[in-house]
Amino acid sequence: MSQVLSQQIEAAYREKFPTSEKLYQRGVSLFPNGVTHDGRYLQPFPIYAERAAGSKKYDVDGGEIIDYWIGHGAMLLGHSHPAVVESVRAQAERMTHPGACHELELIWAEWVRKLIPSAEMMRFTNSGTEATLMALRVARIASGKQKVIKFAGHFHGWHDLLTPANGPPNESGEYSHPGVTDGVAGDLVIVPPNDLDAVARAIDEHDPACLFLEGNGTRWGVVPIRENFLRGIRQLTSEKGVIFILDEVITGFRVHPGGFQAHCNVIPDMTTLAKVLAGGLPGGCLAGRADLMQVLAFENPLGKKMKHPGTYNANPLSAAAGSAALEVVSTGQPCQTANETAGKIRAGLNELFQEKGVDWVAYGDFSAIKILPEYNGPRPEGDDFIPYDNDYRKLDRKFDPALSHAFRCSLLLGGVDWMGWAGSTSVAHSEADIERTIEAFSGAIDLLRGDGLIA
Ligand code: PMP
Repeated sequence: MSQVLSQQIEAAYREKFPTSEKLYQRGVSLFPNGVTHDGRYLQPFPIYAERAAGSKKYDVDGGEIIDYWIGHGAMLLGHSHPAVVESVRAQAERMTHPGACHELELIWAEWVRKLIPSAEMMRFTNSGTEATLMALRVARIASGKQKVIKFAGHFHGWHDLLTPANGPPNESGEYSHPGVTDGVAGDLVIVPPNDLDAVARAIDEHDPACLFLEGNGTRWGVVPIRENFLRGIRQLTSEKGVIFILDEVITGFRVHPGGFQAHCNVIPDMTTLAKVLAGGLPGGCLAGRADLMQVLAFENPLGKKMKHPGTYNANPLSAAAGSAALEVVSTGQPCQTANETAGKIRAGLNELFQEKGVDWVAYGDFSAIKILPEYNGPRPEGDDFIPYDNDYRKLDRKFDPALSHAFRCSLLLGGVDWMGWAGSTSVAHSEADIERTIEAFSGAIDLLRGDGLIA
């Protein structure tokens, strides 16, 4: 499957990560493409991590790598935060699965209710995917309606109904959905992001049960949304009687202790949460209006109960990690520091791109850093900048896979692990990390140029 990326980069990469290459040879016979998550696929092979601490992970060949995956966004506090580690260790000794109610689930839920404005009641799940699955079924039962509105490019997990249109192509509006029946996909109404008129038309035409919106926009802000859009959605859905579900799986507890909704002071009907929620262990949550959540109760006014089993719901280890993490998050300092650090990296990278004369731009909100290659619009002035005036068809595009793989490999050669074309910061990323990161980008640009992948 591996194809030659580029002579110099690939040779240097194989030389630097020989043990990862050996492990990958075992991985390819076990997992399709050798990986257990699509995003971890990398040519010629991905690196294998051995341990992680703070802002760093260490690969099996002993290299120290500044980590911008940061647990797919979950590790806002950095890897192995002492309060989280101690809480999990103590809980592992006490019990891991009593198959019973336990006090930690209450403590965990009380943190969620204290921090997330819309969280009147909740249920825990094992992932963000499960949380959005639950949200849509609750909305259908509560409303008695079937259709669901989502935005082109927004990601809400990989279950059947919400997996279509979770990435480009956007130009044609033709989204394939292999393995999902036309009947299921036909219940989904896909509207362009940031277009309130299109939303109003879609609601009038389809009379949907609910509308899903991803926290700060397409896949952690590739196509950002601004406060007035969120406010507009709240108003439209209230006026037209549509349940508004804000997917804060990544923004929750990360952009602000109370999520994007607290940052904007807009309260959705229901909120889906995961990642930071569980402090780096598996966990998710659907939280929202008590009257809607009553659909999960045995006796409820609608007389229709949504079943909700799940062997690991609110499992004690996730509850231990999550409640320890949320206590630290509640001070506001981790979100603020991670946001500021990302802002400094965005600014530093844009300066570097100018200096190097490369047609890339960095942008993003909060603790997200997006790199857009092949950019020919105006350069940023200030941190509120969105390239291409936020045109989703230009922002949310596929790039040459050879360039994308070589870009990640060349950054890894400089000791930085970048998540595709995006990175996220944690509270643990330091000034020294920022400096080393800019240097790693500088080295990566030289390597990519040397191999003729960029001009
Ligand atoms: N919604 C959003 C906004 C997400 O970012 C993600 C994960 N990237 C999910 C849902 C799915 O969460 P999980 O990976 O925990 O299933």
